[in-house]
Amino acid sequence: MSGGTAPDGIEPAAIMRYVTFLQQGRPRPGILRGGEIHPLPASVATMRDYIGLPAAGRSQLATETPVLLADATLLAPVRPLKNVFAVGRNYIGHAEEVARARGTELKLPGVPTFFTKAPTAISDPEQTLNLSPEISPQYDWEAELAVVIGERCRDVPEERALSVVFGYTCLNDLTARDLQRDHQQWFKGKSLDETCPIGPWIVGSDELPDPGNLEISLRLNGEVKQHANTSQLIFSVPKIIASLSRGLTLEPGDVIATGTPDGVGFARTPPEFLGDGDVVEVDIAGVGVLRNVIALRVPLGVG
Ligand code: MG
Repeated sequence: MSGGTAPDGIEPAAIMRYVTFLQQGRPRPGILRGGEIHPLPASVATMRDYIGLPAAGRSQLATETPVLLADATLLAPVRPLKNVFAVGRNYIGHAEEVARARGTELKLPGVPTFFTKAPTAISDPEQTLNLSPEISPQYDWEAELAVVIGERCRDVPEERALSVVFGYTCLNDLTARDLQRDHQQWFKGKSLDETCPIGPWIVGSDELPDPGNLEISLRLNGEVKQHANTSQLIFSVPKIIASLSRGLTLEPGDVIATGTPDGVGFARTPPEFLGDGDVVEVDIAGVGVLRNVIALRVPLGVG
């Protein structure tokens, strides 16, 4: 389970990114700076462990001999121990297209619609995603801004919510639409293996103080299918964190997918779904580009 080459669009200079990469066959956390990955010391096994350290402890860590990003295989930057949290129908345009496609009345939610994706669904940037056409003929895309939680917290007020964020990354909430619909609860249709690519890296919240004004788009084979701004979220990042953490503990490395804009495949006329060889890119300005190739040819039980 690994990616291929490093993603394009590397930003130069002193901008810091947080990555997990493959070194001698093992995932290692590191800090990306100016095209080089500085591996964290062996005492820090995972990015989740790093995020869980006190800020003072993090800044004192000595990194190891850097490797070139261009030579590295990036993995999902963080893997939570629990399910990925996600918000459904969180852009008005998407809520409208879903109602239209399903023939239902548009009712905007009064509170966020939370669901989760199994951690086994998490995939790597640049990874070819093996999806079986025998399990679903209706794999769909959903570009989303993902929040990575930085500290153990509960009952976080909206005004303080951004202070518990470690950083942001891109996420594609790939969905088997027929399973999402048939099983009523969305979990199964949203949790198939290799349907939650994350990455290519985490941008720290110190470098991205306002997650509420980011251009977000999705390209399928180079064609723009989704394009919006996170200012159009029905529930902003602070509102999502405040609502989710009320009576529910969040932990370092937890991931929250904040919802997708309009332009998903099943709501198009005619509907469109992912096909074998498709290249799908989630592009969030100031965060990065998450690129994956779809392999829609694995027989049932072999993938
Ligand atoms: Mg989604």
